[in-house]
Amino acid sequence: MRGNKEDSQQSERGKKLLLGLVVVALILLGKIFVIQILDDRYKIDASNNSMVYDIVYPTRGVIYDRNGKVIVGNKVAYDILVTPKEVEPFDTLLLADALGVDQNFIRDKMADYHRNRKRIGYQSMIMMKQLPPEVYMRFAEIEYKFPGFKGQVRSIRDYPINAGGNLLGYVSEVDESYIKKDPGVYRSGDYAGKTGIEAARETDLRGEKGYHIYLRNSHNQIQTRYKNGEMDREAVPGHDIVTTIDAEVQQYGQELMQNKVGSVVAIEPETGEILAMISSPGIDVSMLADIGKHYSEIIKDPYKPMFNRAVQASYPPGSVFKLVNGLIGLQEGTLVPSMRYPCYRGYPYGSHKLGCHQHRSPLDLEEAIMMSCNGYFCYVMRNILENRKYSTTEEAFNKWHDYVESMGFGQKLGSDFPAELGGNIPTSKYYDRIYGKGGWKFTTVISLSIGQGEIGVTPLHIANLCATVANRGYYVIPHIVKDSPGVKIDPKYHQRHYTMVDTTQYRKVINGMWRAVNSGFGSGGTASIAAIPGLDICGKTGTAQNPRGEDNSVFICFAPRNHPKIAVAVYVENAGFGATWACPIASLLVEKYLRRTIDEKRKPMEEKMMQGNLMSRVKTN
Ligand SMILES: [Zn+2]
Repeated sequence: MRGNKEDSQQSERGKKLLLGLVVVALILLGKIFVIQILDDRYKIDASNNSMVYDIVYPTRGVIYDRNGKVIVGNKVAYDILVTPKEVEPFDTLLLADALGVDQNFIRDKMADYHRNRKRIGYQSMIMMKQLPPEVYMRFAEIEYKFPGFKGQVRSIRDYPINAGGNLLGYVSEVDESYIKKDPGVYRSGDYAGKTGIEAARETDLRGEKGYHIYLRNSHNQIQTRYKNGEMDREAVPGHDIVTTIDAEVQQYGQELMQNKVGSVVAIEPETGEILAMISSPGIDVSMLADIGKHYSEIIKDPYKPMFNRAVQASYPPGSVFKLVNGLIGLQEGTLVPSMRYPCYRGYPYGSHKLGCHQHRSPLDLEEAIMMSCNGYFCYVMRNILENRKYSTTEEAFNKWHDYVESMGFGQKLGSDFPAELGGNIPTSKYYDRIYGKGGWKFTTVISLSIGQGEIGVTPLHIANLCATVANRGYYVIPHIVKDSPGVKIDPKYHQRHYTMVDTTQYRKVINGMWRAVNSGFGSGGTASIAAIPGLDICGKTGTAQNPRGEDNSVFICFAPRNHPKIAVAVYVENAGFGATWACPIASLLVEKYLRRTIDEKRKPMEEKMMQGNLMSRVKTN
């Protein structure tokens, strides 16, 4: 028994030794391979006079919407390259005609190359960019008459659907600083995503360049392929991206928002997937394909179409924020839903009054949400800040601040969209600095009761609030890219973030939102215009002060009430009451998403929204 054990141990050792030798051998082989390859590469680089590198550009990944529709594709275009060293005397007129340019254009280019001949050496220069196939074909037929000139295939972006220029972003040529940022990846003449999804997913989309190597003969003409193409590297296409966007709804939202300044964000509550994100006025996709040509026009536009209001504009939320204060009051136990508070055109304090519109009084919580009563929510905020549980207003305020942050406000949500803004929720320290420690109380910050004052939120924040309410207490960070075979998204986009308010409290607020929409005209409900039979929309209007002219019109809603499929936030600058513009726009978007078509009866409203032009109300400087 013992001998056998030793034998088997010995053979085990033998096996290990053999394995070790094999590994060493493999490493050595690998090294030889690497040395040879590197050697060859070195030779290729060093002997640039006889080698010609032909860059093979990869096709950029395609961008899809959530239903598999291509929203950004590729089409073929051609660059015309010139290798000045190879050029022989040629018929300038014939070439200019074929390329559709003036003869002087070609003469100037050739003169320029001649001046810089030392620097250029044997390199090829891009003389013309992104020619459409029909122009290139004219050139290709006569190319043999023009040694030193050749076409190079490039794929450029193509936009089959008008699905949001700001969202998709643009691709343009890299500059020196961009090349330096990522050494070895880009070179002059390459393209890269600069904004939107194109920028956010650049590393997935770009793919890898390849090259074909050719040899020159003694007359500087390209003759053969180096080593029969053995040393060539093929281009690797970029990964396709599947977005969370519903292209049809995105496009529809853009049509509704045309000639208005503002933003629309729609989210699938359960997943945090962004269904549509509109910033108006935005960049039209027709400009994206050749952004260089339109760049100065875009930059000069006083309405700043490049600015993505959905994630970069910080606004006071207005009355939609009453939901937040209501939920906090419920959780703290300082708000009893059945408790009625009076409102006679507002909430008086000292010699002041925070005004409200005309409505019946007193109201309970559901009615106060349904009618958007300012006075009621002053009581709600007062009771939160004067809660005896806390020894000071400051302590109660800090708790309020924690609740608000737990709903995603006052910070970047962490979406996968570039340049997201964090907004602002004031801290007790901020008021201490202004009024001194202990020098402020509820009435000092009374405007926070109705979402005014120092609060700044983005449309993405309020859409996320709406999704949180729809989910009865949690949100998933809003995002625009989905998992797909080639691209895995960050796991954080699958996690639920629970707020500090219990699920059971949300039901009480939702009842008020349901009644705001579904109580019928004349009931006092502020959002009756949003009601669609069978869709069970729950919503909250908002009208937020805008120091530059008319109030901003705000509306958030989700539908259906149970198992919600969509949560929407609409923010229209200088559009007055929430119910006038934001509310119909949001409800049309919900209808489009859930039913794919707009009811005949609602067509006049659709028409009115699309035709409405509010641009003259917006001050641009
Ligand atoms: Zn009121």
